[in-house]
Amino acid sequence: MNELRFNRITGEWVIVASERAKRKHEASEAAKPKEPLPEWKADCPFCPGNEASTPEELFSYREEENNQWKLRVIPNKFPVVSENNDTARTEGFFRKRAASGFHHVIVETPFHNRDIPDMSEPEVFDVVRSYFECVKYLYKNPWIKSVILFRNHGKEAGTSLIHPHSQVVGLAFVPTHIMDLFNTARCYAHENGRCVYCDTIGAEQGAGERVIYENAHFVAFVPYAAKLQYEIQIMPREHRSHFIDIGEESLNALSLALHKVLRALKLALDDPAYNLVLHTAPSYLKNVDYYHWYLEITPRLTIPAGLEMGSGITVNISQPEENAKTLREKVS
Ligand SMILES: [Zn+2]
Ligand SMILES: [Zn+2]
Repeated sequence: MNELRFNRITGEWVIVASERAKRKHEASEAAKPKEPLPEWKADCPFCPGNEASTPEELFSYREEENNQWKLRVIPNKFPVVSENNDTARTEGFFRKRAASGFHHVIVETPFHNRDIPDMSEPEVFDVVRSYFECVKYLYKNPWIKSVILFRNHGKEAGTSLIHPHSQVVGLAFVPTHIMDLFNTARCYAHENGRCVYCDTIGAEQGAGERVIYENAHFVAFVPYAAKLQYEIQIMPREHRSHFIDIGEESLNALSLALHKVLRALKLALDDPAYNLVLHTAPSYLKNVDYYHWYLEITPRLTIPAGLEMGSGITVNISQPEENAKTLREKVS
């Protein structure tokens, strides 16, 4: 059973999930394969024909003509959290409790080598639709307090399997990092009477030089104070705290934005490793006027070092405006 251990010095909970060390690490075998990837791989648990090597699927999208799956959602075989709401905790100096929650995997395509930039528009829409359904499914559970949806691409981003996939974790608590973002947004709203995310969109559009793509519903840009090189945020123009309050038309616009942006990133930087994260409000909050959901993509081009570890300050060794210009050229 995975444990949450309380770190007295940082005031944060840490998940101890030692079973995960048993995962197969396909991605670490080669930093970036020199040969083009095959369409199907015999020993890949996510390739068609190997479904029995994964836990039973939660749901799938299928082809109408032959019922073949085109996207599957399955429980993670090596979850970071356990599916029970065991609230017992130990007290005393060394405090721990069960790491409760859900950890699901979205196998985005039956094709081993078809990553999002190479997918058709309907295929990317299915990925984004599955994000919506997975988050909604987890929030139906009353003891799930926060949901983190992410996509690790490439070895440096921490992926263990190359086959295109995303993951979604529902937690029985709200992590400190998420609370910090909330508190910052709440302070801004208190001082200015406005949503910091809505204001960011307005200011970035006004400045123009860091915007890389926009459509009727979304604006994608390299933030003014990007923490790392080529960091990208995709923000909805419509103020909503919860991703799952998004409408069908907006979901379609999101898949277009994601497709364009990830393709531009691949072209500009020769398929870099990156982490994609969906930020959305905790379940117990209704739509609030100070918090706004969004997507964040952080390429892993440098390794955080001592200064980052010691101070929390990241050093961006590039110019956000230059990064945006490069990406903008690739989008069009
Ligand atoms: Zn595969
Ligand atoms: Zn807003």
